Order: sequence, then C-alpha cells, then structure tokens
Amino acid sequence: MTHNYRGRIAPSPTGYLHLGHARTFWFAMERARSEKGILIYREEDLDSNRCRKEYSEAAIEDLDWFGCEWQEGPDKAGMKQPYRQSERMPIFLKAWKQLKEQGLIYPCEKSRKEIRTASENIQNTDLEPIYPEAWRPSSDVADNIDSPEGYNWRFKVPLDRKIDFHDENLGPCQFYSGKDFGDFLVWRKDGIPSYELAVVVDDIAMEISEVVRGEDLLISTARQILIYEALGATPPRFYHAPLVVDSSGDRLSKTYKSMSLRELKQAGHSPEDLRTSEAWWSGIEDSLET
Ligand code: GLU
Repeated sequence: MTHNYRGRIAPSPTGYLHLGHARTFWFAMERARSEKGILIYREEDLDSNRCRKEYSEAAIEDLDWFGCEWQEGPDKAGMKQPYRQSERMPIFLKAWKQLKEQGLIYPCEKSRKEIRTASENIQNTDLEPIYPEAWRPSSDVADNIDSPEGYNWRFKVPLDRKIDFHDENLGPCQFYSGKDFGDFLVWRKDGIPSYELAVVVDDIAMEISEVVRGEDLLISTARQILIYEALGATPPRFYHAPLVVDSSGDRLSKTYKSMSLRELKQAGHSPEDLRTSEAWWSGIEDSLET
C-alpha cells in the first residue's frame, strides 16, 4: 500500500453544490482514506464573473455537513489555509511562459463563432468544434510577446495522435488529438488561465497522485495529458466517477436548485439517508424525494 497518496477535491464556487458533487467528493475522500493519504481542498475560483463568495462559503459548510473531510485547504470552521486558484496567478503565468518559449501555444484572434462555422464546414456538427489547422499562425508570431494579455492563447495539439490512458474506474481510454478535440484554450482574453492549464499546473504543484472527478471531464484528461508532457511532468492516476443524472439521462448542474445539498438538508434528508438512497447508488436523482 502506498502512503503518499495525495488527492484533491476542486469545486468551483459558481453555484450551490448538488448530490453529484457530493458523490464525486465522497469517492475522492474514500480513495484517499483507503490509501491513508491526504485530501486537498482547492477552490477553482478564477472566473470572477461566475464565482461568488456566498457559494464558496456554502460549499465548505455543505460538504462539512455531508461528512466530507479534507486535510489541506479551508478549515471547516473558518478559513485556515484556503487554496484558491485566484491567488496563484504567478505559477500559471510561469507555465504560460514555458509553453510559449517551446512554441507550443499561440495567440488567437478568432471568435468562438468563427471557429464553430469553420468546423461545421468540415465535420459532423455533433463533435466539438475543431480549430482549423490552416488558421494556425506562423511559428514566430509569439516571439516578441511577453505577456498573455489581450489574447486567447491556444495549445497546438499534435494532429491525429492517439492519447491512451488507464482510468481507475473506466479502464483503458483513448482519444485522438486533432480529431476528438482541436487546439484548445490555455489562456483567456479576459486575463485568466483556462481550466485545462490551471488544473494541470495546480495538480503538479500540489503533487497530486490521483485525480478523482466526474466522467464529464474524461476528454479533458486527454488534453491535460498533452500539457503534462509539455511541462515535463508525469500525469497522476485518474478515476472518473459516474455522474448523477435525472431520469431522462441529463446530468445535474448546479442550476438544479432543487437538488442542492442545502435543499436536500432542508427537506429533512440526513447525509446517511442520502448516501444509502437509491439516487446515490443508481445515479438517478428522480428517485429521491424532496
Ligand atoms: N472545478 C471543476 C468543477 O467544478 C473540477 C475540475 C477537476 O476536478 O479537474 O467541475
């Protein structure tokens, strides 16, 4: 048994947490516990337009009520040593610089709409829009730029490369860069790193040995593996947990106020009830009464 397991839970304070979050975080906690490891609480609060202090405080309170425990990050009673991405800009900028110096990222002035339209002309619209290869600028375009400011920056993905990884829950997974996803954002024009970059830089800095998160982020793992390689780091293990869905198969989102942990609490459910409920085991929220 390994004793240096380091896991993390990484909520974004953009809404109240729901049962799906609680279940993923519970898995993360149990896996850390069974390895006698450490669980870190990291708040992913880079997007100041969407994140609210109220949700940040509510998440800590709700997870504490639910019985989740972590060893590093915000103290349940107050704010001991919070890890907030918004306070960690220097390490993200350092990674941006490293990627730029390797010629792996480029500034992009195309709008999302332009990319969608161009992509629809060449492929099935169900797939995520792929940034056209022909639009990549010449390789020296970023040479004289020394700050990410003012541009969207994209990672130049290898074309048609198979990215294989083993998921601890789902088994072998594979994606093709350039086909399943194209050049993705690493830095946003509004001045913050993208989710993909920030999460990798932080998981490296915090020496995370296993990432436990929702299955909706499976394809992100393939993108993130490319960033790990570019930064010369070894990816952690991954465990993608099944999502809680409604009876029509749609995933829950934090906008589902009715299934927030606080509403479930108000409706009289105890954490034990919830963890033994059909919703918990079946992953179907409609089996739970509010
Ligand atoms: N902050 C992300 C979310 O709330 C989680 C990202 C991750 O675990 O990698 O969906």
